[in-house]
Amino acid sequence: MRAINSDDEYLLSMYDACSAAQTTNVNWDHARRTADKLVERGIIPPELRQEACEALVESDDPARLFRGHATQKMLHAAFDYLGTPPAEAKRTLLAILPSTEYNAFACRGPFGAPIVVYNKVLILIQGFFIRSLLAFAYPDSDVSTKRFSSADHAETILLLAAIAAGSPLVRGKDIRTTALMSGDVPVEAATLSQALESFIVLHELGHIVKGHIDDCGFRAVTLGDTTIEAYSLSRDQEFEADLFAADAIFRKTTKKASLSLTAGLLFRFFDLIERITRSTPTTHPAALARWERIKSRFALEDEEWARALDESFDFFASAIVYEDA
Ligand SMILES: [Zn+2]
Repeated sequence: MRAINSDDEYLLSMYDACSAAQTTNVNWDHARRTADKLVERGIIPPELRQEACEALVESDDPARLFRGHATQKMLHAAFDYLGTPPAEAKRTLLAILPSTEYNAFACRGPFGAPIVVYNKVLILIQGFFIRSLLAFAYPDSDVSTKRFSSADHAETILLLAAIAAGSPLVRGKDIRTTALMSGDVPVEAATLSQALESFIVLHELGHIVKGHIDDCGFRAVTLGDTTIEAYSLSRDQEFEADLFAADAIFRKTTKKASLSLTAGLLFRFFDLIERITRSTPTTHPAALARWERIKSRFALEDEEWARALDESFDFFASAIVYEDA
């Protein structure tokens, strides 16, 4: 057991705890099957099958910890939206943990530093999700693999939501082949992926900057064989953190389309996950309510991307097939 004298060492002990509990649980067969499906559906080219497989295993295997440069890059990308980040935000430590949780949260370390924990699975699934969505939206673009229809990509989005939900759902019904948008893809998959990550980091920084992490209840989060006290926030605090993130993105980009695309993708995907698990979240307000707040605050109702995403995701939601149906 390592002595813990700082919040950095506290985070390292969390990595170690994940490591101790999970090293024996790495499931290469499952990772290979998932990677095969992603190749089959054209989400990743065959030559990246092995890389995807290893990336999926990484999410289970704490010996392949994901720390260092990647966390600094994510934090700086979020700071970039803030212009001059508040002092409390600049003190924040970001940890990407190799756990299989599909979430992120903020807490304060035992030595006082604000901490944002971002679980690795979130990054993995989001990357695949963005590529699928862009391929679905623009079936004739370079993002798309020509052999696959928009319907294939729509099914993949449902599959990814099911993986995030830890649910057995693997197919959709009456999946259509209508494209979402026409014209050129306005954004690269990597850029959009980073914007989505930044929205999540900014939301957590919002909790830190607004003082929520010192003024709320606790909930236990199990990571590996350790349990840490994350902060259990009120619905109002969740909305406040969402608006902090949305404000930062809107101020930096000054484009309703950028905000619609980032927040819309995030909350509509979360909504899909909630529908697949047929549950409403206990730690956050329902995703749709969060999206509605942002739409009304920034007058996005008639923005082109907001409408297109709502229409598409209403359709994805209607195509869910439940295992027990
Ligand atoms: Zn939150």
